[in-house]
Amino acid sequence: MTYSYSAPVSQSLFDRAAAVTPGGVNSPVRAFRGVGGTPRFMVSGSGPYLTDADGREYVDLVCSWGPTILGHAHPEVTAAVRQAVERGTSFGTPVEDEVALAEEIVHRIDPVEQVRLVSSGTEATMSAIRLARGFTGRPKVVKFAGCYHGHVDALLASAGSGIATLGLPDTPGVTGAQAGDTIVLPYNDLDAVREAFAAHPREIACVITEAAPGNMGIVPPRDGFNQGLKDLCAADGALFISDEVMTGFRAGPRGWYGIDGVAPDLMTFGKVMGGGFPTAAFGGRKDVMDHLAPAGPVYQAGTLSGNPVATAAGLAQLRLLAANDFAAHAVVDSAARQVRELATEALTKAGVAHTVQTAGTMFSVFFGDYGDAGVRTYDDARKQESFRFTAFFHSMLSQGVYLPPSGFEIWFVSAAHDERAIERIAAALPAAARAAA
Ligand code: PLP
Repeated sequence: MTYSYSAPVSQSLFDRAAAVTPGGVNSPVRAFRGVGGTPRFMVSGSGPYLTDADGREYVDLVCSWGPTILGHAHPEVTAAVRQAVERGTSFGTPVEDEVALAEEIVHRIDPVEQVRLVSSGTEATMSAIRLARGFTGRPKVVKFAGCYHGHVDALLASAGSGIATLGLPDTPGVTGAQAGDTIVLPYNDLDAVREAFAAHPREIACVITEAAPGNMGIVPPRDGFNQGLKDLCAADGALFISDEVMTGFRAGPRGWYGIDGVAPDLMTFGKVMGGGFPTAAFGGRKDVMDHLAPAGPVYQAGTLSGNPVATAAGLAQLRLLAANDFAAHAVVDSAARQVRELATEALTKAGVAHTVQTAGTMFSVFFGDYGDAGVRTYDDARKQESFRFTAFFHSMLSQGVYLPPSGFEIWFVSAAHDERAIERIAAALPAAARAAA
């Protein structure tokens, strides 16, 4: 594929980066490996826009992979951060904002009676699994193909987006022992879960699932799937862990839990709740959380956990999202609907077979003919025509719309995606759709 435009400053930064950083990036999908071309180095963001090191402005459909749901540099989030920074960046002691952030989560998400703050979604899922094993005294973990729960050793098997984009089966560096207690099952298949419990009675500590998977593109749970997981777990004495790192406070005001109402034993959060800073959390039933140190014996800790600047940002963002009866979520919902309808219209007009799937306000576009059945599993997702996405992506980029550089990711919008931003997306879509045809 040739690229009809260039980004010389980004390219020279990328060359510098590649000399000192593996692959030139600090997280693999940023390297554009799946789509080719020069990864854009961004220098600033404002509302729905990003500006790169070459001075080009883009409408941003990545939103930092989810967190910036109010847009970039939201004045009130920025003000909260500035005030916190001026008071000091880290004390290694409890601070009031971390209590307030925990209260915000506990009050909004019913199944969360207690919550612990950590610094990344990976830490949240890793800790939740350790807690589930410590609580149940059992070794095994069930996860689903195509669900990503961060780069936790035991959870990297068939882990969706990043690994799928790079064409890797799984990852070296995870030993057989680390992965040996992980049972990977096809998504949306309750019979497979039933069989796993039958094959390993009272050995499974937990079933972990993305509440509504977004890391193989959006593949929503079939009706009754999450409830079925909860019931099967309860019947065997295992814990049901719902990973809401991506869906939490984004799929809707109360995340996916607010949509399907299935109460997990433990939940994980990240992205939106950190307001663009490294803050994440896991929480759930008090009797389970009580097993965590120092209340209980399961160890978990963090130098920067509950960091005052990060918690100030997260708190400001969650409060702004809830203001005026969750008005910001309604804007996100409307922006997401408009963008996906425009994408459908452009692709249909250009004769490009595609499927748009949604989970609350989240959506993704699969390139390929999936008929009425749609995309229900990781195997389905991997059958998409990635070359079409690549052509589409580069056309959008050249026209100033920044999409996730992977066909396995969702298109993130924010409450700052106003009419002008959506018009710019609308103007870019027809040519991109023709490029994908
Ligand atoms: N869980 C889910 C569902 C995610 O989407 C992600 C990240 O994309 C994670 C966990 C890991 O979060 P982090 O990248 O903050 O470690």
